[in-house]
Amino acid sequence: MGFGLVKKVGGGFRSFSVQAAKGVSSPSLKIDGVREIIAVASGKGGVGKSTTAVNLAVALANNCKLKVGLLDADVYGPSIPTMMKLSGKPDVSQDRKLVPIENYGVKCMSMGVLVEGKFDAIVWRGPMVMKALEQMSRGVEWGNLDILVVDMPPGTGDVQLSISQRLQLSGAVIVSTPQDVALMDARRGVNMFSKVKIPILGIIENMSFFKCPHCGEPSHIFGKEGARKTADEMSVPFLGEIPLEVDIRSTSDEGKPIVLTSPNSAASVAYTEMANKLVRRLEELSGQTTIRPEINL
Ligand code: ADP
Repeated sequence: MGFGLVKKVGGGFRSFSVQAAKGVSSPSLKIDGVREIIAVASGKGGVGKSTTAVNLAVALANNCKLKVGLLDADVYGPSIPTMMKLSGKPDVSQDRKLVPIENYGVKCMSMGVLVEGKFDAIVWRGPMVMKALEQMSRGVEWGNLDILVVDMPPGTGDVQLSISQRLQLSGAVIVSTPQDVALMDARRGVNMFSKVKIPILGIIENMSFFKCPHCGEPSHIFGKEGARKTADEMSVPFLGEIPLEVDIRSTSDEGKPIVLTSPNSAASVAYTEMANKLVRRLEELSGQTTIRPEINL
């Protein structure tokens, strides 16, 4: 079993060995060689879930120095190929597995690199989605990964529940904007994961405020600290705030994540801190044994 290295805040490295600490050997791992699988989820679409998943994955790989994969499970609206600037089709290995496409130190797989027409609608029922996701998770030659980040489809329905259970998630991160309607859905997300005993690693508030480029004054367009309060009320960790920034949108569109292009920006520092918190939380959880009940849908 390999050990990764995590950069300590303030310098130096410490070893990252969640599974080793658990004393768990590979049988509990659903994907060969993948140590921890975390979901980045949201109750609603358009709150910045994929943007967050990308920047966290890149920060985990480049700042925390972990071996990281990114699985785009948002099969209906895959945006990872654009945000991670993935090009070409995946190769197929000798044992007939898909070879992930790597960029910025992250191994990626997405329906967006498998389907022919970039703009074709994917019209699939639940069972087909699950079949495709089986292929994109277990049918991929990930190699040894410390963390596989899963960009979940938005919402809290059957598909999300099935993915959570089949992938044996180590935990879930919920992304929400601060306004009430988004937070209501974020609560549903927390409840859904709790129902299947998947630990909530934390809530991230995206688009927390807009800093005026002229006067620097912050405007709380979608309300103030809603996600922080929701996290407190639900007794789950609050991982931090990401501002609403033109650079986050433009770097996503260009396929150059902001954590790489402007590593010293407030947003990048926040993403990196969140990545570090996630690693620490996974390490904390490593001592816990969670029994996940099967839910028959
Ligand atoms: P979701 O995965 O929740 O549907 P996306 O990550 O695709 O959301 O983001 C939706 C849009 O919002 C994208 O154009 C993205 O670039 C933009 N966006 C996300 N987060 C921010 C932010 N903090 N500031 C500015 N734009 C953002």
